[in-house]
Amino acid sequence: MLYYSTNKQVKEATLEEAVVKGLAGDKGLYMPEKIKRLPDAFYHNIGEMTFQEISFIVAEAFFGDDVEADVLKEIVYDTLNFDTPLVNVKDNLYSLELFHGPTLAFKDVGARFMARLLGYFTKNKKQKEINVLVATSGDTGSAVANGFLAVKGINVYVLYPKGKVSEIQEKQFTTLGQNITAIEIDGTFDDCQALVKSAFSDEELNTKIKLTSANSINIARFLPQAFYYFYAYAQLERQNKNKNVVVSVPSGNFGNITAGLFAKKMGLPIKRFIAANNRNDIFLNYLLTGCYTPKPSIATIANAMDVGDPSNFARILDLYKYSHNAICNDISGYSYTDEEIMKTVAETYRETGYLLDPHGACGYQALIDGLCPDETGIFLETAHPAKFLDTVENIIDDKITVPIKLQEFMQGEKKSIELTTDFIPFKKFLLSR
Ligand SMILES: *Cc1c(COP(=O)(O)O)cnc(C)c1O
Repeated sequence: MLYYSTNKQVKEATLEEAVVKGLAGDKGLYMPEKIKRLPDAFYHNIGEMTFQEISFIVAEAFFGDDVEADVLKEIVYDTLNFDTPLVNVKDNLYSLELFHGPTLAFKDVGARFMARLLGYFTKNKKQKEINVLVATSGDTGSAVANGFLAVKGINVYVLYPKGKVSEIQEKQFTTLGQNITAIEIDGTFDDCQALVKSAFSDEELNTKIKLTSANSINIARFLPQAFYYFYAYAQLERQNKNKNVVVSVPSGNFGNITAGLFAKKMGLPIKRFIAANNRNDIFLNYLLTGCYTPKPSIATIANAMDVGDPSNFARILDLYKYSHNAICNDISGYSYTDEEIMKTVAETYRETGYLLDPHGACGYQALIDGLCPDETGIFLETAHPAKFLDTVENIIDDKITVPIKLQEFMQGEKKSIELTTDFIPFKKFLLSR
């Protein structure tokens, strides 16, 4: 299968090229040339299949031409060695818990898959060492760092905004060592993202070292996020609740929701999607006005969604052939202030006993506000609430149990390198390694 750039200024790439490059040479995002509709028989049997079985079939539709079946199966089964259960919160509202992986956030799925696929390409081809650059507003860094930890031939550099991620998040990528280096930038997430983008477009740097990204711009990180939409549907089917399914996705860079839109294109019967945002409401404004106007990001308590210029918007435009109408038909939007998010977390906990994290809370509230009586709503619970310990404990005015996996990270010693938002020192640093 070939992959084209959303900017269409460069020639199509193979899977390996697209994964190794991350961003296309014209700064566009790679898209698969075909999105295959899965056969009716698959949808017929989906309720009887496991998460791994379903995911392998979805993975084959994208990667089957380029990766041998037994290798792909191993990558999928090894990536998804944890569950993503669907939990009923109340009435027709379900939480798809994506936080049972090693760093307790949904990005584990894409990060682990990408690490294994890239590891396969480097091992096979005896490539030069690959340097993975990743900008994070919190959870990407930990998922990528843990996904790639100890993978041979790959170095990971995690850029994060100083003082703007929670202590637990920070510990998950600053304490690992080995092939993982944390870089603390005196700026915002957008500054980190800009540094990474500059690195990819710097000619000198790219002739001297091999660079790729592990943000959701990378096709190998992005596409596997489609897996759990199928599995969520399968779980609803088992309960006979699979009519008029609406999926609400807490969104920042819009990689997660775009993977869901791909699943719909593959024939998964999801009626519509909701993009749930914090105060960074660029997408909502696009839905309302038809104009896309990026803005500097605003810091919120759902910090993994503090994105002012969501990269995957380019993929959504491409998928819907730039039709604002078609996009509005499939996706609606909501935006919530910190106060509203806190109110949702507190009320839901009080009324149902279910503890939301600030990101999932946006998704949940959007279902409360937007679901029709004949619909079944799933929101993606993208992270475990204990990852935002202080925020969540303050809101519910109670202590919560921190999962062992997180406690272990807290005991590690933080190691990071401090840099400014200037590109030149960052470039020098990369070249000196
Ligand atoms: C990354 C992240 C999001 C946003 O996902 P996108 O794919 O960037 O839209 C939402 N919630 C949490 C907890 C995250 O880490």
